[in-house]
Amino acid sequence: MTEHAPRRILIENGWVVTGDPAVGTLTGCDILVEDGLIAGVGPGLAGDGAEVIDARDMIVFPGLVDTHKHTWQSAVRHRCTELDLQTYFGEMFGRLGGQYRPEDVYAGNLLGALSAIDAGTTTLMDWSHVQNSPEHSDQAIAALRDSGIRAIFGHGWPLVDLPAWLGGSDRPHTDDVRRIRRELLADDDALVTLHLAGRGPELSTLHATTADLAMARDLGIRVSIHMGCGPEFGAMAAITQLEHAGLLGPDLNFVHCSESADDEFAMIADSGGSVALAPQHEQAFPGIGHTSLDRVRAFGITTGLSTDTETHGAADLFTQMRAGLAAHRSQLVEGRSRFTGKLDPFSVTEVFTMATQGGADALGLGDRIGSLTVGKRADIILVRASDPNLFPVTDPVAALVASAHPGNVDTVLVEGTVRKRAGSLVGDTFDRARELALASHRRLLGS
Ligand SMILES: [Zn+2]
Repeated sequence: MTEHAPRRILIENGWVVTGDPAVGTLTGCDILVEDGLIAGVGPGLAGDGAEVIDARDMIVFPGLVDTHKHTWQSAVRHRCTELDLQTYFGEMFGRLGGQYRPEDVYAGNLLGALSAIDAGTTTLMDWSHVQNSPEHSDQAIAALRDSGIRAIFGHGWPLVDLPAWLGGSDRPHTDDVRRIRRELLADDDALVTLHLAGRGPELSTLHATTADLAMARDLGIRVSIHMGCGPEFGAMAAITQLEHAGLLGPDLNFVHCSESADDEFAMIADSGGSVALAPQHEQAFPGIGHTSLDRVRAFGITTGLSTDTETHGAADLFTQMRAGLAAHRSQLVEGRSRFTGKLDPFSVTEVFTMATQGGADALGLGDRIGSLTVGKRADIILVRASDPNLFPVTDPVAALVASAHPGNVDTVLVEGTVRKRAGSLVGDTFDRARELALASHRRLLGS
């Protein structure tokens, strides 16, 4: 992208949900943005020549944080809606994944990242397990950068020569991640940064995982691992294995944990680790188990929400917030929880926090993003409160969680740069993404 943030933007007269417990929600509130940072939050701020964005009849809130998405799959959207988890693995890992060329990864990532921005997501953890060659990684990163989103590139494994990498493989993670760290993503303060998307003991071995975590810690990058997706993986007690090996820590994030045991949630909590949930998938994807929202809350674990894969679900976090709230209410009210301790009610504010500050904390970015706080990066969303599905608004957080969708998102700023304005993505990047994604879709699916 060539657009640069104007030095000063004044967002004027909005209904501002800061997400900052010390400030709360304010009506008739302005936000001053300077050099990509939030410089002021309050009524009657002086713009002094700043570009003004009129936020009357708008709900203004922190950019949503997607903690886990296999963005490379976005050009084959909805391919797997009727599949169970094992059949999805066969289709995306076994059949299509090995056919992905670097340009397919670029197309999927660009489309997925732009659809995230369109939906009010300003930070995306791109969980990229399609590292078929170094060029695949380079193209994934290039697309994230070209989209303008704040992203974490989660470097995973190849989908060619699968038996060498999965199913109890003792081979360590490819050390091309060292090249990426050194040459492409050395700056942890940049808009696109690096994590390791690891296989963990369920897909490789404890021995390989020990080596992988040592490498990541040597490189100073965080690690995300899928855990407990279905009874067979849950029975492997991989979190317990990591605990016994002394490997747990606050730099580890675990995805789903649907069939992980209660005592493993206690281990994550004790180590300061975090969890990424995708409640829509955890209810609608046969074989993955039931969402662990009940237990992450019971054990007080830092938790973010995520969209997982567009082959099976929606690109937006509004859907995940609604699915999470419904799932937890079902667990609590209908007794559909495996947790035997006491469950507290789950509020719209709490699920909204998971989609913002909780996700930021889960990704290690909580001091930079997640709330509209002076000094943080200006990742800001404006939603039209006057739209037919939202008006009249009783409570802005309730409206966002209960009814909002990407079509209500009027304006999106990422680090002070406007990426969506008056309901449309800025620039012509989406036109290019659509062209590339269609070509990729036709090649991969033969249609
Ligand atoms: Zn996943």
